[in-house]
Amino acid sequence: MTATPPSTAAVRPAPLPPGGLPAWLLIALYVGIGSLPLLLAWHENAPVGGFWRALSNGLAMVGFALLTVQFYISGRIRWVSSDFGIDRLLLFHQMAARVITVALLAHPFLYVMQDLFEEGPLAAGTTLLHMVGNPAFTSGLTAWALLIVVMALALALALLRDWLPIRYEAWRMSHGLGAAAIVCAGLHHTITIGSYSEDLTLAQLWIVLGVLALAGLAYLYLVRPWQLGQQPFYISEITRVGERLWSITLGPAKMQPVGILSRGAKPQITQPIVYEAGQFAYVTLGGSPFIMADHPFSIASSPSEGSKLRFLVKEAGDFTKVVGSLPVNSRAYVDGPFGRFTLRQGEAAAGGRDKVAGIAFIAGGVGIAPILGLLRDAGVRGETRPLRLLTGNRAASQLVYGEEMESWAAALDFRARHVLQEPPADWHGGVGMLDDATIADWIDWPNPEGWLYFVCGPRAVREFTERALRARGVPPSRIVDEAFKYE
Ligand SMILES: Cc1cc2nc3c(=O)[nH]c(=O)nc-3n(C[C@H](O)[C@H](O)[C@H](O)COP(=O)(O)OP(=O)(O)OC[C@H]3O[C@@H](n4cnc5c(N)ncnc54)[C@H](O)[C@@H]3O)c2cc1C
Repeated sequence: MTATPPSTAAVRPAPLPPGGLPAWLLIALYVGIGSLPLLLAWHENAPVGGFWRALSNGLAMVGFALLTVQFYISGRIRWVSSDFGIDRLLLFHQMAARVITVALLAHPFLYVMQDLFEEGPLAAGTTLLHMVGNPAFTSGLTAWALLIVVMALALALALLRDWLPIRYEAWRMSHGLGAAAIVCAGLHHTITIGSYSEDLTLAQLWIVLGVLALAGLAYLYLVRPWQLGQQPFYISEITRVGERLWSITLGPAKMQPVGILSRGAKPQITQPIVYEAGQFAYVTLGGSPFIMADHPFSIASSPSEGSKLRFLVKEAGDFTKVVGSLPVNSRAYVDGPFGRFTLRQGEAAAGGRDKVAGIAFIAGGVGIAPILGLLRDAGVRGETRPLRLLTGNRAASQLVYGEEMESWAAALDFRARHVLQEPPADWHGGVGMLDDATIADWIDWPNPEGWLYFVCGPRAVREFTERALRARGVPPSRIVDEAFKYE
């Protein structure tokens, strides 16, 4: 175990990672893209058919336009996700996908409603059959069927992912490619047989949106991996630090000695990742950045540690179970930083640094990872405010970095309390789960409503904490939380 000696000397603040577009601008863009085809269609043309046809076409146009934006709101593009937070953006991506799917799947049925009401069920059925049998509708039908498959898989994975024999990486690849196929088929349908297909301006808009959607996918699946491949890291250390817990240190690729470079070849120098303590990155360990095998891990080091990045990884599934056996010196790729689990964001939400009397951290299991980053940073900065840590684990073998915590307790106003479900005989800490009672019992400082709280752990821990803190008068704006599973 390595203890970073806390320093009380003034530390130059680490540079801030590049931000993104403000949320208001992104919302305005989203609304604008969703409504533009509708406005154009109805400005230039009379609505086609009666009410049901207009509704069917309107919903399909809005749905298809927003489908093309889905590629940009999958969370991986930092200039889009940084102001919202990836978890909120991903939730929106999922909700939007469901609404878009309903709108697009309803399109043919709403279209024949006109026939149903005017001429009866036989006429409506005949129009539907005509669509199915007519080759001109093949692209539309393909997009429609693919939408069902892609959404059914996404829903199944969201609900049953722990039981399904589908690898996350395989699903992610098929999800992106499936969505791209829907856009291509849908685009063909819209500009060849769509009700407003003769409107040139509208056709041009569809082509622009389609190209932008595919460009978003190409960025995520090709350009970004290529960029990461140009900035490789190496695994410089892997150590077992607790039961099923591994500390992994990544270092940037070193400049190659001039002697072994062929003429004209440039030495490869990896730029350090500029991040704030508490953020996370998508990490690929070994293999190629193109295989989509990256996993999100919180950066457990402090930005002041320079170009080395430390992670704390818990064995959870296929990938994390084998991290301990990865060879040192193998390549790694780091896409990041992402996330809003930072002191800057927390203080801003609380009304400013001077409104935060103390900082408390609640970690369930490996949820300690981003908190380690925040505490290590507090140690380096010589934080003068009180710092309190509450951790919850099953067994003592899961407690990590005890020596480092002792060094913070000696140099800072830092105290830690550890709660175990299965404590050893000589245990002096808390016993049980991190529930309302444990959390309420731990808060022994006055005016807890003037503190800032960082919570990371399973959903139950985050819910208990929020309830216990609210009961003590802590406003939600003073609780910063991080989830390791997007639910
Ligand atoms: C923001 C964030 C920060 C995280 N930080 C840490 C950390 O510091 N330490 C740690 O041990 N764990 C962390 N995790 C969890 C970690 O990413 C998963 O445990 C890991 O990806 C599981 O991979 P697996 O193949 O071993 O397990 P699997 O059995 O394949 O997956 C288990 C679950 O992890 C999720 N998952 C798997 N792969 C991915 C992926 N590529 N992207 C998103 N979710 C995925 C899925 O929900 C899946 O059901 C973090 C997760 C998030 C979202």
